[in-house]
Amino acid sequence: MPYPDAVKNDVVIALDQGTTSCRALAVDHRGRVAALAQEEFTPFYPRPGWVEQDAAEIWTVQNRVLQKVARQVGGAASVAAIGITNQRETMVVWDRATGQPLHPAIVWQCRRSAGICERLKASGAEPMVRQKTGLLLDPYFSATKLTWLFEAFPDLRAKAENGEMLFGTVDSWLLWNLSGGKRHLTDPSNASRTLLYNLHTGDWDDDLLALFGVPRALLPEIVPSSGRCFDTALDGGGGMVAVAGVAGDQQAALFGQGCLSPGQAKNTYGTGCFLLMNAGNAPPTPDQGLLATVAWQIGGETVYALEGSVFVAGAAIQWLRDGLGLIRSAAETEALARSVEGTGGVYFVPAFTGLGTPYWEPNARGMITGLTRGTTRAHLVRAALEAIAFQTRDIADAMVQSSGLPLPLLRVDGGAAQNDFLLQFQSDLLGIPVARSAIGETTALGASFLAGLAVGFWDKGEIAALRQADQTFRPAMPEAERESQYRGWQRAVRYQCRV
Ligand code: ADP
Repeated sequence: MPYPDAVKNDVVIALDQGTTSCRALAVDHRGRVAALAQEEFTPFYPRPGWVEQDAAEIWTVQNRVLQKVARQVGGAASVAAIGITNQRETMVVWDRATGQPLHPAIVWQCRRSAGICERLKASGAEPMVRQKTGLLLDPYFSATKLTWLFEAFPDLRAKAENGEMLFGTVDSWLLWNLSGGKRHLTDPSNASRTLLYNLHTGDWDDDLLALFGVPRALLPEIVPSSGRCFDTALDGGGGMVAVAGVAGDQQAALFGQGCLSPGQAKNTYGTGCFLLMNAGNAPPTPDQGLLATVAWQIGGETVYALEGSVFVAGAAIQWLRDGLGLIRSAAETEALARSVEGTGGVYFVPAFTGLGTPYWEPNARGMITGLTRGTTRAHLVRAALEAIAFQTRDIADAMVQSSGLPLPLLRVDGGAAQNDFLLQFQSDLLGIPVARSAIGETTALGASFLAGLAVGFWDKGEIAALRQADQTFRPAMPEAERESQYRGWQRAVRYQCRV
């Protein structure tokens, strides 16, 4: 579909490089999606718990959707800038001379470095790591994957030490390719997910490099999240466009949700949930299993965020559909949940892969409690939806306590945020309004805002004004009932985690 009224510099293009697909979205000055192209790529599961991707395929597919959207909007003359947002922590290594990947990309979900994390924890390294990075020693984060790679392939370590190899998260890999192999860059929001970046100095850290055995020569230069990096060529009439914005997907969503002031927070309800709160201009000291991370860097200003993650949220609904065959589609859960008054005392702890914030209990497993002869599939479905909200409350409580900031409102997005029952229950359970964004594409919007800011396509005031709530859900449940339901959840989790 050609973009109807393309005029010069009409749009910013966001590249949304996700875990399962590559997307390109053209966003116009009013924040509307004017064109979109999306393609999936292949995941590889070479062993239980291992997840890989083909970095060359990621680039090919990402470039294809970019060029498709560029043609749709009328080529470079219509595009003010390009912004990138990406799956975080996934790491790529490639040959500096040929640009060819030297190993499959090791994906954030991959658990292969669990043993390395155990070893480093046993050596007493975690407090230093946590103090410097705001993260935890977990296979999730990139550096432990790099340590694994060097231990498995000593020849790659030699290449790294000789300066023949480059490392990057997926943003770096895309930037390298978009610059024709000329620039090796990343931004602080992505760097702060590697375990190699010191939140306090804003740079790669020698102690961390030594701990993980990483030569500095491998690492990209860190540039602001919003700022001109270089120009790249686009199809559709030729011409060059500035690549001018970069942020990890959850930080981009925080920006796209307009959470530009301290205390503003968003929760994304997808396969899992990611709740991020703008923590202002100083690195927060996270406790209660929260992470501290860079939200973005614009000009000389760095904004930090507190982050909590739920591993299984919408995935519990998928399990009801695919594992149990209880439902045919995720969408029907809303009516089913509403068809009963409550869960009849049923609690569902969907700890299929352990529990994240605030528990970080990798060995916890799922559980359903309170079953009676009267329990129906509607009760189970409702309990699964409520579990998403209970887990979010766990994080929200931790965040308020840890930050000392109140949480007056929660902004929400993601696939499961289409469920009105879930959002009403979430509002009831938190006792605050929950506002669903009118534009579902908050991640891409965030990346385009960062790029558009850098080239003067928008200013900050315009960006804040663009955000509109599609619907706000307000708390209606009496406090005594809310707390009694939440205590029931805590009892179920405590039983499961033995905490
Ligand atoms: P991701 O980006 O993690 O792939 P999405 O934001 O696309 O996830 O959301 C998909 C998830 O949301 C799936 O796990 C699905 O089960 C869940 N989901 C989608 N629609 C609904 C709904 N109406 N009610 C509850 N869950 C839903």
